[in-house]
Amino acid sequence: MPDVIGYGCEQKNICAQCGGKCCLQRGCTCVPGDFDNDIKKMKKALLTGNFSIGIFGPEDRIVNPYLITERGITLNRQLFKDGQVVLSIASRELNARILDDYKTWFFLGEQKLRPIVDLLRQEADSDCICALLTPKGCKLDFSKRPRLGRILVPVFDRENCYIPNRKAVMEELLKQWAPYFEGLLEIARELEDKSWDKSRNFYI
Ligand code: SF4
Ligand code: SF4
Repeated sequence: MPDVIGYGCEQKNICAQCGGKCCLQRGCTCVPGDFDNDIKKMKKALLTGNFSIGIFGPEDRIVNPYLITERGITLNRQLFKDGQVVLSIASRELNARILDDYKTWFFLGEQKLRPIVDLLRQEADSDCICALLTPKGCKLDFSKRPRLGRILVPVFDRENCYIPNRKAVMEELLKQWAPYFEGLLEIARELEDKSWDKSRNFYI
């Protein structure tokens, strides 16, 4: 059966000229296959500090941070039940930025790692540098990079780079992550950084 998400190919020249603008904005989303569909390997990857657990939904901004703050994971469970939002893994990010009237998280310029359990990452979708970015590019070989980073087609600048067949890819991604919700939730509870959660009055 053809793989809906695909594999893509590296285009070093284009990305080198660009300087990795996409990596300066956010990390790449993974597919479960990046960890051999193995929850133990997912946990191991999270413990390297290079990846974080986030929320993935069909639209970039489907998750309302205020509702998450008030109701924690119950909201996510509800959305999950409706088939709209799942927990997923992406490469970890530096810096934090939350909506202006949100109470906390504003570390731009400090190069601080966001938490491993980063359920608000969808709301900080710019100025969040991927922790795997080095002055020479991504720390990972192309074949080891999160799959969504591998299928992004480079066109010299961030605005024109694109994921082919994006809607189908996003739907497939939701489908692929859905069975890992409970396993990732368990890991999230174990790895949750209480100091971040306390400051944002958030619980899982
Ligand atoms: S994929 Fe696009 S934005 Fe990212 S480094 Fe390559 S050219 Fe730049
Ligand atoms: S994993 Fe690599 S390619 Fe993806 S955002 Fe991070 S540095 Fe860029």
